[in-house]
Amino acid sequence: MPKLCRKLLCCLAALLPLAFAQSFDATFEQIKKTATKDQLYSLMWDLPKGGDLHNHFGLSNWAEQWESVALDPKRNHGNEFFTRVKLNNCPDSTEPLLRFYHLQRSTYNKLSECRKAEYLSLAALSPQLRVEWLSSLKLDKPGEGRNEFFEVYVRAAGELLKDPWIAAEVMVENMKRYSAQGLRYLETQMSVVPYQDHDGNPMPPEASVQIFRDALNRPDAKATGMTVRFILTIIRFAPNAEENLERAFQFVDTHRDMWVGINMAGREDNDKGYALRFLETYRKMRRTYSGVHLSIHAGEKDSPGHEVRNTLLLGATRIGHGVNLITDPDTMLLMRNQRALVEINLISNRLLEYTPDITKHPFPEYLRTGIPVCLNTDDPGAWDSHMSDEYFVAVTNFNLTWGEIVQMGRDSLRYSFVEEPIKQRLLKEYSAAVARFEAKYGDGNWQDKLKTVKPVRSGYAQRNFGLQ
Ligand SMILES: [Zn+2]
Repeated sequence: MPKLCRKLLCCLAALLPLAFAQSFDATFEQIKKTATKDQLYSLMWDLPKGGDLHNHFGLSNWAEQWESVALDPKRNHGNEFFTRVKLNNCPDSTEPLLRFYHLQRSTYNKLSECRKAEYLSLAALSPQLRVEWLSSLKLDKPGEGRNEFFEVYVRAAGELLKDPWIAAEVMVENMKRYSAQGLRYLETQMSVVPYQDHDGNPMPPEASVQIFRDALNRPDAKATGMTVRFILTIIRFAPNAEENLERAFQFVDTHRDMWVGINMAGREDNDKGYALRFLETYRKMRRTYSGVHLSIHAGEKDSPGHEVRNTLLLGATRIGHGVNLITDPDTMLLMRNQRALVEINLISNRLLEYTPDITKHPFPEYLRTGIPVCLNTDDPGAWDSHMSDEYFVAVTNFNLTWGEIVQMGRDSLRYSFVEEPIKQRLLKEYSAAVARFEAKYGDGNWQDKLKTVKPVRSGYAQRNFGLQ
């Protein structure tokens, strides 16, 4: 073949994928215009999605998952849980005054008779109490917002969150749910401090690490194809938060095969945890440690401020939420240099009233002015939602193009903290999954294809999306 022809063929071959992508862009616009809500929901379920980078372990478990694991003798490793169904005002009471507060058997057995009478085993709940108990593990009622979440939901979980065997079981279930929705990667915020054994003794951290390591190596976990990494999160407003931060650096440094970074969480309207309080500690840690990545909650506020700027100064390359970044134009301009990503959490921000009207969320402004973003779930157990719901909210409120969706999926992997060779493999797999998706739905017959997709309709979707 003459050289010129070979060159021309090469050029044509290079252009082909571009032409295909452009044509799917048009198909996607057509689908958005004509699909029913149910069809669009199925499409969002089937969509390849990259990774979830902002997810709190424990708060991402659905109530029904807690129930199925905690009540199954094959999966609960012999533990039993009790929930508080009434308040007797016992004089010796020490736990928070909350209904549906959770204890494990060893703690329950030590209670006085008055306090014991407040609790029932999860296995003994009446059908009506069971419904109320499941609802207590979700923000599913009008008026349940920020205070319900921080002051009731998070505290009432109690010892349900302290059993490492149950946590590991639910983690594998979550991996299956993520995989079914086309995700390949999960970076979840996980600490090993709070776990205890069945007698209530604190678990040595290495014992908890081993339980999670074993769970990740289970055949059914491996079969999901998911890669999972952990972020160690400290509570920012704790009096000894600086000390905890130093310990976190040390822990991540010695567990780099599983833990890849550090985060700080906790209500930012509690000023005790302001970002610059930690500047000296981060600088001190950087004198010793290299390559400990930082993703830090910043700007999860409904008042203006420089939380995101100050958090970038701490060294973060990912910002959790960044809702009030929109009020700080200089930092917005700075973030257009593409070195840091904002982890967007649409459903969380709506339910916790940071952006009660989701159409006013700054996400499209960030996305369309060149600030890297990706969609995340935050606490999907509390929201009773999953990752596909986040995409449904984003597409239906902000008219996302196909190119924007793929860019966000790619960025959710590019800005992840996973080791570089694995990141490159995940990016390759993501591109292949996107190509398969385009081929599947781009042949003019997408309605029929969607009939075979069976999405799990979350409680959040059923309450908010107006599906049939
Ligand atoms: Zn968060």
